[in-house]
Amino acid sequence: MTISDALGRPLRDLRISVTDRCNFRCTYCMPKEVFGRDYVFLPQSEVLTFEEITRLARIFVGLGVQKVRLTGGEPLVRRDVDKLVAMLAEVEGLDDLTMTTNGSLLSPARAQVLKRAGLKRITVSLDSLRDDVFMAMNDVGVPVSTVLAAIDNAAAAGLTPVKVDMVVKRGTNEDSVLEMAEHFRGSGHILRFIEYMDVGTTNGWRMEDVVPAKEIVAAIDARWPIEPAEPNYYGEVAERWRYRDGAGEIGIIASVTQPFCGSCTRLRLSADGRLYTCLFGVFGHDLRKLLRGGASDEEVTAFITSVWSVRNDRYSEVRSAETVKLQKVEMSRIGG
Ligand code: SAM
Repeated sequence: MTISDALGRPLRDLRISVTDRCNFRCTYCMPKEVFGRDYVFLPQSEVLTFEEITRLARIFVGLGVQKVRLTGGEPLVRRDVDKLVAMLAEVEGLDDLTMTTNGSLLSPARAQVLKRAGLKRITVSLDSLRDDVFMAMNDVGVPVSTVLAAIDNAAAAGLTPVKVDMVVKRGTNEDSVLEMAEHFRGSGHILRFIEYMDVGTTNGWRMEDVVPAKEIVAAIDARWPIEPAEPNYYGEVAERWRYRDGAGEIGIIASVTQPFCGSCTRLRLSADGRLYTCLFGVFGHDLRKLLRGGASDEEVTAFITSVWSVRNDRYSEVRSAETVKLQKVEMSRIGG
């Protein structure tokens, strides 16, 4: 079964945020001034249990979802998250199960446990190879070597191809673009550059801080010629580019300068069970209330269908000085 939204877009991908907590304080995502000692995170009682998440995943797969990505916050700070992976891996019809992590807690053993539990691939975020730049961005003093080790651990465990996501922010880490490209060329890992986005309301986003994808592509092409590659599947977020010398590929996620709302097949579930139809959404539909109120699978299915069928979000296509001010949900609540 496939359900389509008001703009004819099918539901295919589900991003599940398993926690709103993170051990990083990336300045562009969870700035310390807002997410400091006094910040009140969700109490455990409000966070969906593994059983609730798995039940929902089964229902979503019945509605056409083929791919689930676990995210956060930082998914690896959720205790026993490998047990959730194992439960989701049992869901019939789920083709792809993956995770986005900052890598700081991905030891060799943890990577192997996740792989054995049924995780297929992993994406690790890394914004620079320079310690001073990276530490200033994560703002908790985690060095680059920790994340590079995590990438090795993921690859050794077979969570491949490993994707490495780098958010590029003007005046902060744009100088790291070529070094990152050089480092990951030929490694078998896929480096993806993400335009800095106006998610949430706390990161002080300004258009001047966005390094447009075109500029990134041009800088890499001038050093190592690249050519466009075909998307792997309909609705793929990253635009693929291949090195002409055979050293692999890179991805570009140009949500700001080249919006891809027209083929957006993604739905997002927050850790407290709210359903968001857009990364830049303001309102989350309360699925937890339904689950804990004793709704049947049919009732939950009907609710999700009613939400998706009227979906007409296309935030990135209509972004303006006015929309930037909306009270959008924080990325730490709904993940990447
Ligand atoms: N903690 C995990 C991690 O670091 O990958 C998963 C959650 S994090 C919110 C997911 C991704 O969103 C990361 O790659 C992060 O760099 C990216 N991200 C966060 N805020 C962003 C922003 N304002 N613009 C672009 N990407 C952002």
